[in-house]
Amino acid sequence: MKRLAIVVPCYNEEEIFERTAERLNDLITDLIQKHKISSDSYILFVDDGSTDRTWDLMKDAYVSNPHIDALGLARNAGQQNALMAGLAAVEKKCDMAVSIDADLQDDIEVMEEMIDKFYQGADVVYGVRNDRSTDTLFKRSSARLFYWLMKRLGTKTVSNHADYRLMSAEVLHQLMRYGERNIFVRGIVPMMGFRSDVVYYARKRRTAGKSKYSLARMISTAFEAITSFSIKPVSLIMLTGTLIALCSFAALLALTVCAACGKNISEGKFILTSVWLLGGMQLAAIGLVGEYVGRTHFEAKQRPRYRIKQVLSHDLMSSKDRCRNGSSEF
Ligand code: UDP
Ligand code: MG
Repeated sequence: MKRLAIVVPCYNEEEIFERTAERLNDLITDLIQKHKISSDSYILFVDDGSTDRTWDLMKDAYVSNPHIDALGLARNAGQQNALMAGLAAVEKKCDMAVSIDADLQDDIEVMEEMIDKFYQGADVVYGVRNDRSTDTLFKRSSARLFYWLMKRLGTKTVSNHADYRLMSAEVLHQLMRYGERNIFVRGIVPMMGFRSDVVYYARKRRTAGKSKYSLARMISTAFEAITSFSIKPVSLIMLTGTLIALCSFAALLALTVCAACGKNISEGKFILTSVWLLGGMQLAAIGLVGEYVGRTHFEAKQRPRYRIKQVLSHDLMSSKDRCRNGSSEF
């Protein structure tokens, strides 16, 4: 029997936390009874610097339930970093890990199917939403545009798959080798080339609490994902620049021929076309190159992705003691 860890990043999820913990605990108990997973399987909640009662609720859940562990980040590090923190914590303490959002919009019932596929040899099992009718029209169309763009830019993202996936311990181990700060897990996992499978489900509505992704945050996540995985925008700029240069060269040639034929063409026309053309091209190119240089700059800084403030683990006596002593920072 293999050991399962369910990793759940949570940010200000007090309204939904208890219900989620209860449902995931029921699921784990059921899977243990069915002999699908070992009896020491567990759930790890990661508090991503919540400002509400989420951490307090996690602590209560940890105290009352041996299947629940909790990890608290010192500040809001973002969903991807919280997820990485959780996966890093379970890496050596499980045979497989499933990551899932705290709002359980993703159907937990298909987790059993994921585990079956793991036993059949898959190292990664993606949860794919084949029915997003509960999402708003805007969310659906922006998601479609995003996946289309990611594919066109040559990345291997799985369409309609977010962060609901099963990964074997080996995948986790490899994932930890990616030291980049701006990490987009769902772009990296398919890139690693592990044997994978897919399970389908209908996406549900959020039953309580609010989505943490505003329009601005969605755009910045998409922008980050694109720029950290593809250099094609630079090639596109170069292509556009070349086309503009060719066109303007043709226009200048035409102007010269006209002038040679005796037509009266002012010097200003020649100068203005060239200046506007070159200025625009340079500005766009510099802006984009700057974007990449900026990213290199942050990578070079090698800032820690997160700082773990507290660990509540039924496995690690030392960290438990640290918590009891109130000196849980390290
Ligand atoms: N989340 C997080 N840190 C953040 C934002 C979100 O850990 O800074 C968690 C959040 O608690 C939830 C998951 O990421 O478990 C997905 O967030 P949400 O449901 O708001 O996204 P949506 O489903 O609207 O895309
Ligand atoms: Mg959600």
